[in-house]
Amino acid sequence: MKDILSMLPEELAAEFREKGIPAFRAKQVSQWLAKGVTSFEEMRNLPADLRFRLGEEYSLYRPVVLRKQVSAKDGTIKYLWGLFDGNAVETVVMKYRYGNTVCISTQVGCRQGCAFCASTIGGLVRQMEPSEMLNEVLFSQLDSGEKISHIVLMGTGEPLDNFENVMRFLSLINHPEVFNLSLRHVSLSTCGLIERFPDLAERDLQLTLAVSLHAPDDETRSKLMPANRGRGVDALMGACRQYTEKTGRRVSFEYAMIDGVNDTSDHAKMLVKRAKEVGAHVNLIPLNHVEESRYHPSTQGHLKAFIKILEDSGVNVTVRRRLGGDIDASCGQLRRKFEKSREK
Ligand code: SAH
Repeated sequence: MKDILSMLPEELAAEFREKGIPAFRAKQVSQWLAKGVTSFEEMRNLPADLRFRLGEEYSLYRPVVLRKQVSAKDGTIKYLWGLFDGNAVETVVMKYRYGNTVCISTQVGCRQGCAFCASTIGGLVRQMEPSEMLNEVLFSQLDSGEKISHIVLMGTGEPLDNFENVMRFLSLINHPEVFNLSLRHVSLSTCGLIERFPDLAERDLQLTLAVSLHAPDDETRSKLMPANRGRGVDALMGACRQYTEKTGRRVSFEYAMIDGVNDTSDHAKMLVKRAKEVGAHVNLIPLNHVEESRYHPSTQGHLKAFIKILEDSGVNVTVRRRLGGDIDASCGQLRRKFEKSREK
């Protein structure tokens, strides 16, 4: 059965035409889907036989809330969604002055193996469908009652390792009849799968490309991020530059500050060079605690000294606020879970 929520309204209209279903029916169906109905039965303005037929020919899955946690500190909400096959993924809603941001997962699990991240423990289970990513956004909005204005692809998974599905998700989210969100309000974060950068640049999307750099040199980066092995920081910088040349859009570097690993003044100076060669903005993330990891966040003193070196060299730098720390909803703390498995 075809997954109706992963289809664009035009595709649905074309398919209805082929099936001999009147065009205005496709429009009605798309409107119901965008509202978040959970079954064809709820599509009241369709004749019963059509509702039945659609139920036979298309699947329509919505996630269920397995758990919802709200941070007592900052109101951040973390959802654990149950998917159709018993897998579960997490989504986080954060409240910023400029609007509400939803952080979505793009894969069930992750195969990138970054040493400081909880999302990769247990590896990749499966790709997520475009409809499942759309549902993370739509149902976070419907359940929380908070209008979502920004999306970051920074939950569990590597978006460029699920390229076609993520591209389709972006088309859906951007579509006026689906979610109607400008891609200017979307950030896609990658561990640096550079072979995909040209494909992404080709699409010429208005999103922000965020690169998880975390170290300016191969020795440190390869130790932290297996994705660096066989690719390397020089090649990553080249890919970023080409991306910027092609799209006219600056990339940003994410840099988790890890005590004694990537936070010395030498690292800061190398990072200055890297940021300048690419024209990148640097977003520092104080490392968040992950039980299984042996890494710790940099001290305040090291963080301050690091920031000063970047600022004094004219690099554009910000420090990411830590939201949802009390509910393990911060960067690197999201995990895949099974419906019946251990609760923390
Ligand atoms: N796979 C993509 C998307 C994940 S985004 C990527 O690697 O970019 C999540 C961001 O949080 C990434 O920058 C990731 O490197 C960072 N992160 C992972 N674990 C972290 C931790 N323990 N503390 C702070 N940031 C972390």
